[in-house]
Amino acid sequence: MFFRRKNQVTAERPVLRAEAVQPGRRSLLAWGCACCVMATLPVFPAGAAPAEVQRHLDAAKAAAGSDLGAYLKLGDAAVAPAGDAATPSLAQLINQPVPPPGQVFDNLYFVGAKWVSAWIIKTSDGLILIDALNNDDEAERVIGGGMKALGLDPAQIKLVLVTHGHGDHYGGIGWVQRVASPRVGLAEADWHMMETKLEFDAPEWGRPPKRDLVLADGQKVVLGDTAVEIFVTPGHTPGTVTLLFEAKDGGQTHRVLLWGGTGFNFGKRPDRVARMQSYVDGTARLREVARQRDVDVFISNHSGFDEAVTKLAAKQAGQGNPFVIGTGTTVRALTVMNECAQATKLAWQA
Ligand SMILES: [Zn+2]
Repeated sequence: MFFRRKNQVTAERPVLRAEAVQPGRRSLLAWGCACCVMATLPVFPAGAAPAEVQRHLDAAKAAAGSDLGAYLKLGDAAVAPAGDAATPSLAQLINQPVPPPGQVFDNLYFVGAKWVSAWIIKTSDGLILIDALNNDDEAERVIGGGMKALGLDPAQIKLVLVTHGHGDHYGGIGWVQRVASPRVGLAEADWHMMETKLEFDAPEWGRPPKRDLVLADGQKVVLGDTAVEIFVTPGHTPGTVTLLFEAKDGGQTHRVLLWGGTGFNFGKRPDRVARMQSYVDGTARLREVARQRDVDVFISNHSGFDEAVTKLAAKQAGQGNPFVIGTGTTVRALTVMNECAQATKLAWQA
């Protein structure tokens, strides 16, 4: 069954400014690809791959150090077919206990589930929701419940940025549109994918939103005092978007990069090889952006990668703010992703 409910959006919608600051940059590719399902897979065994593939896996391991091992699971796709029978079902992933919501920075909140994340950016003119979880029921329980616990009013959601067109990120949009009248943004390639043929679908997922705001590479989407810079980083989907914005922490300003689609556990196919190249290019490009802009917070839309749930618990236990990892660590995380993508692409080409 689906959890879709009647859309009660009013005709009047808030106006957002979209500023093209880097014209000419475009999404690289446009093909279909993978879902975000990711089990806790074993990290690839040494010596299981051809030498060139192994070289990239070794580089990934070196970049991961002792603190970024969560990203190394990406490399398993290079040495074994992914999506194996051990992967938990979507229902199992959705039905895990809900972690406590929390404030990560003065203007950034985690209101996600254990498996898939949702974030709120608080602006001077309302709230930006990043991703809407799997379905309306989950969105109401997890996002709505979390916002209530944090003193945030769901009716103030003015904008939903959907990182990519897979149902675990848009499925709960019906709930959001029932309680608020937000604009909804995705990149063109993923709007197209959702309008033509869903790459993946599941009975647990709500229906895709109707086309609204088209996010373009280089755009700054502005709500009140907050600008979110859009980078189209295809790979996980044709139109995955990665977001860059500032987070305030008392008197300090941090720059946050939210990578919009990490996994590539979708099996070997020639069209996926091409899309893996976009992933390689995107991570290399954003690694430079991270360096140039001193990005010191790198988060995800799945807690299995950025360990947001664990970090939030540590923060709430008074152990500082583990979300602030520094520019060097952000660059290393993107390097792990990049090297694992290169290894996987080579393995699939072999
Ligand atoms: Zn996905």
